Amino acid sequence: FPTETVYGIGADARNEEAVREIYKSKGRPSNNPLICHIASMGAATEIAEFSDDAITIAKAFWPGPLTLVLPLKKGNKIASIVTAGLTTIALRMPAHPIAQNLLKACSFPLAAPSANLSGRITSTRAEHATGYFKNLLILDGGQSDKGIESTILDLSEKPYKILRSGSITQDKLQAYLSIEDKKSSAIKAPGMLSKHYAPNRPLRLNASSALEGELLIGFGVPGEFSLSESGDLDEAARRLFKLLHDADQHPGTKSIAVMPI
Ligand code: AMP
Ligand code: MG
Repeated sequence: FPTETVYGIGADARNEEAVREIYKSKGRPSNNPLICHIASMGAATEIAEFSDDAITIAKAFWPGPLTLVLPLKKGNKIASIVTAGLTTIALRMPAHPIAQNLLKACSFPLAAPSANLSGRITSTRAEHATGYFKNLLILDGGQSDKGIESTILDLSEKPYKILRSGSITQDKLQAYLSIEDKKSSAIKAPGMLSKHYAPNRPLRLNASSALEGELLIGFGVPGEFSLSESGDLDEAARRLFKLLHDADQHPGTKSIAVMPI
């Protein structure tokens, strides 16, 4: 199903068997927990403990492209496979109308990671997900608006940390509370260590021009494979994964190069 960030593959977060199917279909290691999606604060507070800071941040940024890691609440009905056995849970309230309607229509929260095979390029269009998964019901919401995964903010302990960067930046969050600089914090999210978002073809970063056999993804230059002709970061984020999919399948190309961004 579409969200404003990327496409997700969802299952009833209370149903262990259903959630296991997600790990299996994605080839996702079982130590990489899933984000749990909810439509309302009422549903969120049944699952996790919200501190005053957590409520402030949720009020400011939900629904939207921000995931909060919070302590699991006692008596929550979430299958432990969702959190990979952790005592914390990652929660998000998506803003996309289709995601919102889907969540409202379900009587349960949806455990939903990105709709791609583990380690491979993220799906930002329904066609990308169809390429990865057969026999799935796919809700087509067109191109994802943000195009990159949600920012993950860990509020489960102090100092607060950003575990994954996204369109809600540290600056925007710092307006509400202080956050430890990402570079100085140890890696905590199990999913952060593994190879991520990778095309099949080799990819070279910070390339000023294409070498033989390379397809150049540009930035701030004109062209079919330019992330943004005007050098706009939001536009570049929106187009990033689509261009990676297209470059990975482009005939006559052996590898991909990307200009400095
Ligand atoms: P994806 O669903 O593919 O966007 O990946 C979800 C990301 O959230 C992964 O990087 C996970 O490691 C991270 N995550 C999910 N739950 C937790 C948690 N309880 N604590 C820390 N990170 C989490
Ligand atoms: Mg993912």
